[in-house]
Amino acid sequence: LAERARAGELGRLGIMGGTFDPVHGGHLVCAEQAREALGLDAVLFIPTGRPAFKLDRPVTDGELRLAMLRAAVAGNDAFAVSALEVERPGVTYAADTLRALRAALPDEVELVFITGADAALTLPRWRESGALADLAAFGVAARPGYELDAAALADLSARGFDIRPFAATALDISSSDIRRRVSEERTIRYLVPEPVRVMIEEQYLYREELDHGRLA
Ligand code: ATP
Ligand code: MG
Repeated sequence: LAERARAGELGRLGIMGGTFDPVHGGHLVCAEQAREALGLDAVLFIPTGRPAFKLDRPVTDGELRLAMLRAAVAGNDAFAVSALEVERPGVTYAADTLRALRAALPDEVELVFITGADAALTLPRWRESGALADLAAFGVAARPGYELDAAALADLSARGFDIRPFAATALDISSSDIRRRVSEERTIRYLVPEPVRVMIEEQYLYREELDHGRLA
């Protein structure tokens, strides 16, 4: 991806941050439709190291979450995965990640951070919120139950955020539901890409979710 950027082939790069524990069809459809709607040349998936907002439950090892993501995006030339946050010790914040990308990529590359409307509403409370607004534009997908209304949009714009809403097919899929299903020995087929489903099965992931009291 860095090579494509240096070759001038990357005008606009989407960034999909998340825990991805595990990556699922909702994430992939959202990224793909963001790519189309926002004119992104590529989408970079960056799984969190130690998520700032999920310190309450054990998160699957970063290498495994990366491996599932790599399997999920294989075959899509516009999708790539970054280990930037997983390799960074401690909690990572979006502002740090965007600054690192900014430093690594040519100035011409425009960064568009993709998020669900639920997460976008909390942007003013993110760490270094003011700096964030200058580092990237924000592509905001409608997620079932969460939409950006005109007032929320106006508020974010007033705070300097460049918000680019886009319509995405509403898929009510969540990683929590997938983990719960696995722990209850129910099917997750087609909710996640098949290679991801196979990895979850082979690595015995999410089996003891309930035993360990991981679910909120
Ligand atoms: P969890 O259930 O553990 O909270 P999650 O399914 O919400 O997991 P995250 O890794 O927290 O997944 O989400 C990463 C990003 O993807 C966030 O910006 C979130 O808003 C977005 N996202 C998650 N699920 C969907 C979905 N079904 N459709 C569109 N966007 C989604
Ligand atoms: Mg979530």
